[in-house]
Amino acid sequence: MQAVVWAGESKVEVRDLPVPEPPPQWTLVDVAYAGLCGTDLHICHNEHPRAKPGLVIGHELVGRLTSPLGELRAGAPVFINPLLWCGICPSCRLGRYHICHRLGLIGIDMNGGAAEAVAVPEDHILALPAGVDMRRAALVEPLSVAVRAVRRSGMRLGDRVHVLGAGPMGLLVASCARLGGASEVTISEVSPGRARAAQALGLSLVDHDSPQPIADVLFDCTGHPAVSPTVSRWVLPGGLVTVIGAYPGVVPVNLQDVMFREISIVGTRVYSLEDIAAAISVVEREGPTLDPVVTAVVPLTEGPWAISALQAGSELKVLLKGPAA
Ligand SMILES: [Zn+2]
Ligand SMILES: [Zn+2]
Repeated sequence: MQAVVWAGESKVEVRDLPVPEPPPQWTLVDVAYAGLCGTDLHICHNEHPRAKPGLVIGHELVGRLTSPLGELRAGAPVFINPLLWCGICPSCRLGRYHICHRLGLIGIDMNGGAAEAVAVPEDHILALPAGVDMRRAALVEPLSVAVRAVRRSGMRLGDRVHVLGAGPMGLLVASCARLGGASEVTISEVSPGRARAAQALGLSLVDHDSPQPIADVLFDCTGHPAVSPTVSRWVLPGGLVTVIGAYPGVVPVNLQDVMFREISIVGTRVYSLEDIAAAISVVEREGPTLDPVVTAVVPLTEGPWAISALQAGSELKVLLKGPAA
């Protein structure tokens, strides 16, 4: 089968690999779509601490079962939960698998699904509604992150929301904030291409250089060290800051402002099963409104092109199309 492989350094190759043979309690899924994101860029530029060369990338996956599983028949559309948790650390013991102390991911810590097929543990399979648009369902993984971010933020009906960063995550968070009842959603973005995508989603842009208290709730989807000192300045007194973007390390935050104006800061990481279930229903009901987030759908053989296009910023979200599409 064809698979997109990180070959070490900055080399990405399409390789012909044997179809994986699932061990007991695992199952084989024919891939419909594999979405690529910033994490894949980090892997493919040797910037990810855990990925090893020879890895098949791809953690944003939907496909079809190759054999029956429980009540699901062969061919049933499924989402693959890529989170790998240990089951025994204090977080896992409390049922908080998504903040497992040793959290890993399919497509980082084991071969992923930027391939014709992928073998995964059976308990990572989640059924998608029959007849779901698989191309739209390919957004379930990043959308689950956005759902959790909005839930974690404490946002209330009628709140004014501002989003920093109009990458795929910022756009999905802005969409979920709208669905969650925000009265107004604005966004800031440096790149003109991404700003255009935000406009295509009907979001109004606010100049990123002039932070001003315009929001009850801020979502920081940048992870950029230049942004962290400004986050408190976007929110009104008593406002909420939600950190979604992964910062590269310790970064400055204006804690004087946080204290004087009673600002709350909350972090959010990946998603729980409940968040995934909500993301699936968002795709079912609101799928077409999210279409501007996906800017290219290409065959697996275009995997290396997709990585370089994302790196260059000429595409926002690229889906690789597998045989079950
Ligand atoms: Zn991703
Ligand atoms: Zn654990």
